[in-house]
Amino acid sequence: MPKAQETVLEIDLSALTHNYNYLKSKLQSKTKFLAVVKAFAYGNDAAKIARHLQKLDVDYFAVAYTKEGVALRDAGITKPILVLHPLAVSFKTLIDRCLEPNIYSTAILDQFIKTAEAQGQKQYPVHIKFNTGLNRLGFNENDIEAIVSKLKNTSAIKVTSIFSHLAASEDLNELEFTQLQIKKFKNIADTFEAQSGVKPWLHLCNTSGILNYPEAHLDMVRSGIGLYGYGNSDEEDKKLKPVASLKSIISQIHTIEKGQTVGYNRAYTSNKTEKSATIPIGHADGISRIYGNGKGFVYINDQKAPIIGNVCMDMIMVNVTHIDCKEGDEVIIFNSEHKVSALAESAGTISYEILTALSQRIKRIILPQ
Ligand SMILES: *Cc1c(COP(=O)(O)O)cnc(C)c1O
Repeated sequence: MPKAQETVLEIDLSALTHNYNYLKSKLQSKTKFLAVVKAFAYGNDAAKIARHLQKLDVDYFAVAYTKEGVALRDAGITKPILVLHPLAVSFKTLIDRCLEPNIYSTAILDQFIKTAEAQGQKQYPVHIKFNTGLNRLGFNENDIEAIVSKLKNTSAIKVTSIFSHLAASEDLNELEFTQLQIKKFKNIADTFEAQSGVKPWLHLCNTSGILNYPEAHLDMVRSGIGLYGYGNSDEEDKKLKPVASLKSIISQIHTIEKGQTVGYNRAYTSNKTEKSATIPIGHADGISRIYGNGKGFVYINDQKAPIIGNVCMDMIMVNVTHIDCKEGDEVIIFNSEHKVSALAESAGTISYEILTALSQRIKRIILPQ
């Protein structure tokens, strides 16, 4: 791999294949695989990631918003796409582009039926979400009767699946709570089937659900972070391969004399003669100010260099006093060896946040080319 000459996010599609196959190996052959590619495929490149997964014959995709689904259709994605958080304002577009809505409330159900009927739809596929403890989106168990009666009054939509979302599948201290969610969901599914007379398929597990709760794989699983190479545990991380590597270069090196300061608000003061390196990545690229002042770090010539002072909009400065380096040298912010999860932890956040925050200003490079 040639060394980076600017800030780039390298996206390794062979790692994506590896992760997909690893996660699939955890499933029974009948269980479908939905790839979650919301938020630019967790900051990577939704079109390229989805096209690769479509070639691997993934069953389904999910995005958060209709706009993201439209972008996938424009990129040639023909597999079904579930929109996890559709808003009524986008229902017409959603139907025009054959996207499938999550129906999570009575208001949304009424509005979707109205739009589907007005468009002359018959049996348009929808997915009904139930709240089993996350308290975010979804119907409650006692809404089933009302849902079923609305469904019986229209032929414009059909329920393809019913689903729910786990609140703490990565946290084994919450085993009991998660098992309760699983039980609750199965009961809801039974009641729904009994009352409606239809048997939609069922799905509940995200990545950590796949890894920790094989009894809950049901008819389909929905994986995001695992596909990108993170399993929310050290043990699973070892079996997955990070898809994204964030690299940059040293733009300039400064000698900082004792008592001089570095960056805005003079937040860092040197107490001896030191050396700083300026790197062309800042909070506008997704490296939040929370990584400043010694929390975040990068690697230069395999040595750790902490961020000193405040993160600027377009730059960070790191301490390289102890590192043999020069202007133009490559900088690793994270890669398969220096994991994004460690960087996220240093600032009290999670890999999901730092990956999805990487702004579109950063050039994406797809490997292998
Ligand atoms: C984002 C999301 C997922 C994917 O979760 P991961 O932990 O990234 O695997 C699955 N289901 C729903 C409803 C989501 O919002």
